Amino acid sequence: MNRPEISFEFFPPQNLEASFRLWDTVQVLAPLAPRFVSVTYGAGGTTRDLTRDAVATLHKSSGLQVAAHLTCVNATRDETLGIAREFAAAGVSDIVALRGDPPKGADRFERHPGGFADSCELIAALRDTGDFTIRVGAYPDKHPEAADTAADVAWLKRKFEAGASEALTQFFFDIDSFHRFRDKCAAAGIDTSKIVPGILPIENWKGAVRFANRCGTPVPQWVIDAFETAERDGREDLLATAICSEMCSDLLDAGVDKLHFYTMNRPELTRDVCHAIGVTPEVRLENVA
Ligand code: FAD
Repeated sequence: MNRPEISFEFFPPQNLEASFRLWDTVQVLAPLAPRFVSVTYGAGGTTRDLTRDAVATLHKSSGLQVAAHLTCVNATRDETLGIAREFAAAGVSDIVALRGDPPKGADRFERHPGGFADSCELIAALRDTGDFTIRVGAYPDKHPEAADTAADVAWLKRKFEAGASEALTQFFFDIDSFHRFRDKCAAAGIDTSKIVPGILPIENWKGAVRFANRCGTPVPQWVIDAFETAERDGREDLLATAICSEMCSDLLDAGVDKLHFYTMNRPELTRDVCHAIGVTPEVRLENVA
């Protein structure tokens, strides 16, 4: 098993305490030498300024490659591209380009009058606006709005044709569903080396189930049973590390060479899983002597 390349997703801090927690998270995970770290953009564009500030600060202070998430929700085209230009001016040209989820209270995406209709329009406009590295979302368990997996795969292909260079998947628990999705992408002519599995280390079991239900990600019965038992015995952390490490090593055995971790700004479990799959701190020789 070769050392995979890894990346980490964070969310922008909303207050001082959360800022310190994010900084601690970065300190714990940075020694694992991620390919990049990304910062999410709150549903409905609610964290626009916080995302911009977190991205710029991480870029300036952490020495890591930083990617900014950007969605089409609640903004005109000009406003959205203006934010992308602000990221570029701060030295950040990696964007995770998404259509975005609706704001709280709305049950479906509504195009802003004057805004982008979908992720393909955003990707194409970013491609025409600057020299961005554009990553996009992908859905092994099918996006809740897609008619079927074939529709999701066809849409992902269009996102690559529009200018995306890599896709990060929604998290999943059933590794076979990732393999089936990857096979369908290959059959559709998508370069599957550009599809990076998204991994959710289960830091908080009940929260993970809520998150999965919102995203339409099935939770296998054996995982539910295992967590119910682990909760009774107070050993959820051990189970979460074991399940996640096993899943990552199965993916690596199947030829995957990149993993994207949803850290939830809690670094310990992600760090332990990385160690278990052979991703350990990179020690610089000049610091050893
Ligand atoms: P798309 O892939 O564009 O659309 C989702 C599905 O709907 C498609 O697979 C396709 O089947 C169908 N579809 C959509 N438009 C069309 C069309 N015009 N024609 C045909 N089919 C269509 N949300 C946030 O708010 N902020 C974030 O920071 C954020 N980060 C994310 C990071 C990752 C890696 C992922 C996977 C998701 C993230 N999300 C985030 C959630 C995301 O915004 C939602 O899943 C949203 O509902 C879809 O966005 P998308 O760009 O992936 O959609």
